[in-house]
Amino acid sequence: MLSPFSCPTLEGSVGPVSLTDPIFISDLHLSHTEPDTLHAFLRFLESDADHHRELLILGDFFDYWIGDDASFTMQVVVDALRHHAKTHALYIMHGNRDFMMGERFAKEIGATLLKDTIVAKVGQQTLLLSHGDAWCTRDHDYQAVRRRVRSIWWQWLVMRLPLTMRLSIAENARAKSLSRKSTKAAYLTDVTPDVVLEAATKAKATLIIHGHTHRPTVEAMTDTVTRIVLPDWHFVGDKPKRGGYVCLDGATPKLVTFTERHD
Ligand code: MN
Repeated sequence: MLSPFSCPTLEGSVGPVSLTDPIFISDLHLSHTEPDTLHAFLRFLESDADHHRELLILGDFFDYWIGDDASFTMQVVVDALRHHAKTHALYIMHGNRDFMMGERFAKEIGATLLKDTIVAKVGQQTLLLSHGDAWCTRDHDYQAVRRRVRSIWWQWLVMRLPLTMRLSIAENARAKSLSRKSTKAAYLTDVTPDVVLEAATKAKATLIIHGHTHRPTVEAMTDTVTRIVLPDWHFVGDKPKRGGYVCLDGATPKLVTFTERHD
């Protein structure tokens, strides 16, 4: 039994990570309230993800995460990931919803927890990977909240609360974030291009992959730097509304979005 106290903000590998044939996803926002998305992910693990050596989850995999000691609430996902990790390399990064994932959970599923942001090498190519919320620098209110919940003292305090209290904090935050999002100007909830480009230049990266904004795109930022935004997942019944992944076709990045039922 690992210690119940975890400080995820201090945990995670700083990379760089060496990859050969990665597939990237983010923003599935898995929860029991959206079982069809959960099932779509389980199908994805056995199909598309199975054909790639490494699976990288770049944040907001869960709609919220109240602590590694509550991983039993998502046992189906834990079992599926652990099974996948037996034959594939698995990497997971914090998002703004599941930033309380720690090393204990990563160990439980056989994954490597990655710091946000991180450099990855695929052959000769240098990639910069991030969830993306830290690059939404024009949203000062959000960044202030982000700093608070990523602080050691906040995490230390929260992890000492009983699960039921942590759950109500998470549900409160989720409701607030939903109502704020609907009233915010679009540019506030998007990344700041200059900040992203500066990070890519510093990392000598030619390809940036991030999620968070729910605005999937492949964009040439300069002659040499490409930015890819991962799609969020939202399945209802047989027909997905949204979903997809990014993989590399040789050196060329490929954004695949699901438009029909994904079996
Ligand atoms: Mn996010």
